[in-house]
Amino acid sequence: MVKADAYGLGMPRVVDALRHEASVWAFGVATVAEAEALRACGWHGRVLVFSPAPPGEFLRAARANLTLCLSDLDGVARWADAAAAQRQNLAFHTEVDTGMGRAGFAAANVAEWGPAVARLTADRLRWEGVYTHFHSADEPDLRATDEQWERFRGVLGALPPEPLGSPRRLVHVANSAASLRRGGYHLDLVRPGIFMYGGAVGANVRPEAVANVRARLVLARQVEPGATAGYGATYQARGHERWGTVAIGYGDGLPRVLAAGGEALIRGRRVPMIGRISMDVTTVDLASVPDAVAGDVVTVLGRDGDEEITVDQVAALCGTISYEVLTGLTPRLPRVYV
Ligand SMILES: *Cc1c(COP(=O)(O)O)cnc(C)c1O
Repeated sequence: MVKADAYGLGMPRVVDALRHEASVWAFGVATVAEAEALRACGWHGRVLVFSPAPPGEFLRAARANLTLCLSDLDGVARWADAAAAQRQNLAFHTEVDTGMGRAGFAAANVAEWGPAVARLTADRLRWEGVYTHFHSADEPDLRATDEQWERFRGVLGALPPEPLGSPRRLVHVANSAASLRRGGYHLDLVRPGIFMYGGAVGANVRPEAVANVRARLVLARQVEPGATAGYGATYQARGHERWGTVAIGYGDGLPRVLAAGGEALIRGRRVPMIGRISMDVTTVDLASVPDAVAGDVVTVLGRDGDEEITVDQVAALCGTISYEVLTGLTPRLPRVYV
């Protein structure tokens, strides 16, 4: 999954790093525009567009030779029209809604839509895959996942068989979390996202720190007792303190709500953020790093020496998930690939 610019890390370089892996069967994106960007990277292989495409984008999707994920009969009919208009063979996967409630054919109505999809899959259309998406595969308790799995198996059993001579439809269900639980739900394909980018998926397996977010200390100075920091002057120096100004703020994607409890690493030591995060800068208390000077590297996410601030720790402090922290990094923050 390389949607949302590869979870904020930069799709072109992520695709470059993965494209020659034998295990990569396709790249998954959310939108037709993302798929077109992927084509512009020189990827000519399969691209699955997982979110329902707006009706007006089906022709564009056909021109880019994409594989759409379809959730209703109108979509299948529209895709057949696009194939006919473009005189082009096109593949699609059907999503099955087993509880996610955002897309997919209803699992309970398979007896209706199954045969109807098969009927519409004529001439230039190819029904290549069937999948569902788990809503709680990262929860310690897998009962909800079991229920979704059972519903999905029921659908698979009730689908009309592939036409004689056609390959078996590919079946897939696993996001990162599911692919690391139980047997991994390794059916024909898995759809890993966040784990590749350094996000944890439950306690079982620790991800590598894939993304580090670093900035520069641009000022380090002594302040008088009573000095205040940031908009709203929410922090006040209790005594003589030494503060540092770090050149990163919410305009770079450092979540503004992080300031309460947020920390950064300088010279392998932890420093607390103080006051509110501004658009462009963040103030830290340098008490634990008296030798810090302007120009020092400040790590707000990732590893410095023996210390690490994980994306999940940042997310927890912000009351959100790793996905939102990574995809929230803005273009102002240069991506440097090592
Ligand atoms: C985003 C997405 C994934 C990847 O999920 P992760 O939790 O990031 O591994 C898999 N499947 C679908 C349909 C998705 O939209």
